[in-house]
Amino acid sequence: MTRDPVAAFAVDTLGGVSMGTTWSVRLLAPGRDLRRLHAAVEAALTRIVAQMSNWEPDSDLSRYNRAAAGSWHRLPDEFRDVLACALRVADASAGAFDPTVGPLVDAWGFGPPGGCSGPDAARQAELSQRIGWRRVEVRDDGHELLQPGNLQLDLCAIAKGYAVDRVAACLREEGIDNALVEVGGELYGMGRRADGRRWRVLLDDEGDEAGEARVVELDRSAIASSGDRWHRRDDGRGRMLSHSIDPRGGAPVEDALRLVSVLADNAMEADAWATALTVMGARDGFDFACGKAMAVRFVDSDGRERMTPAFRAALAA
Ligand code: AMP
Ligand code: MG
Repeated sequence: MTRDPVAAFAVDTLGGVSMGTTWSVRLLAPGRDLRRLHAAVEAALTRIVAQMSNWEPDSDLSRYNRAAAGSWHRLPDEFRDVLACALRVADASAGAFDPTVGPLVDAWGFGPPGGCSGPDAARQAELSQRIGWRRVEVRDDGHELLQPGNLQLDLCAIAKGYAVDRVAACLREEGIDNALVEVGGELYGMGRRADGRRWRVLLDDEGDEAGEARVVELDRSAIASSGDRWHRRDDGRGRMLSHSIDPRGGAPVEDALRLVSVLADNAMEADAWATALTVMGARDGFDFACGKAMAVRFVDSDGRERMTPAFRAALAA
């Protein structure tokens, strides 16, 4: 008797709330204890929050941000890996991505202190002096981090992607090879669906030509998105502010791209680059991504879509 693969392996779903957003996993786990898998995922996410959230006053990152000048801080492995990647992307993007942008994020009302109308020019200049990824000093292969004084890390632009990768790794450790992992809209797919096909993701339909569906297949790969689409706020005077801050100018990106989606081998890099390219903007970001053969889809504030050749090549039929 041949077994119908769909009937043989139903897709299970796990889900929850973490990192100020929701997470979900669709997986093939026949005969497995879903409660145990759920608990393993929650534990992985809780660890990341406890280390890297700037919304948790007691996280390692928040304690570092408040620490005295000259103090060294031992970083757990996860924090070390995320910071190392953040610094690589900061360098490669010439500071469009900057994990020390925290004071500006707060000043423009997108951090834990909450809403405000934005800093005046003098305060903006003063805060801009405090930031800069080149001020980050590590030793012992990145395991120890110096607080040079007043340096404030913000890993929000990369930690969700990292969380996706960690959840995928945690599932693999549990013997799960077929899953689609999602945290706050960032995705990683591995293995196959119940019907033996790759995990398919239908992208936002804005900007597509002639109403064509944009579908990508994720096979040990990730897609992460950034942009103005979800996170902007009114400054109280009718001006919309983007939550993507240009660290080089000290202010929210003007006329920010609506959506920037990056396909990559892992979600951490996809997440960081989606932010970096949003900050670079429609023209510079597109040229940069093409130059590096990155797979990226841009949707501008008028809804116009542009895809790099690598992204177009990755579209599923
Ligand atoms: P994302 O949605 O991944 O683009 O992340 C946006 C969040 O990252 C913001 O809410 C800030 O906390 C932070 N952020 C904003 N601008 C930058 C930047 N240029 N580089 C790094 N992090 C940023
Ligand atoms: Mg990001």
